[in-house]
Order: sequence, then structure tokens, then C-alpha cells
Amino acid sequence: MMTDESQNDSIDCQTAFESLYDYLDGELDGEKTDAIKKHLEICAKCFSAFDFEKSFLLFIEARSQSQGAPEESKKRLLAALLKEDPARD
Ligand SMILES: [Zn+2]
Repeated sequence: MMTDESQNDSIDCQTAFESLYDYLDGELDGEKTDAIKKHLEICAKCFSAFDFEKSFLLFIEARSQSQGAPEESKKRLLAALLKEDPARD
């Protein structure tokens, strides 16, 4: 009997974060993109991180039209975001 992978192909948070930039750049294949989308649906922490980063990239993109994109600030912001624990209510 074949294993049904559809129930068990979800990725974990680390994998999601490792693929964040590729995902936002649209560089992932359909399968990986689906896996990340699926993860974002069930994981509020990653969803807010991806949503934040997406907005940030758009901001950087607009800003970089007149000046260079601050790669360092971007990484520092993301690192700060990942350290934050949103599960406090
Ligand atoms: Zn997650």
C-alpha cells in the first residue's frame, strides 16, 4: 500500500523561514510554494513574519529606487522579529 503523503507533507517553521526570501522572490517551485502557503495557514507566527517581510520588501523596493537597499537593516529587523514571541496574550 502506498503512503499517502498529502497528510504529512507540511514543513516546519525553520524550513519556512529558510525559504522566506525565495518564496517572496517567487523562486520556489509550485510544490514548495504550496507547502509554505499551507504552513502559513496553520502557523500565525510564520504568517506574521512573512507578511511583515513582504511589506518590508515592498517598502525597500520603493525606497531603493532613489537609494540603495539597506540589506543589513533588513537582516537585523528579521532577526529581531524571529526572536520575538507573539504567543503572549
Ligand atoms: Zn511556522
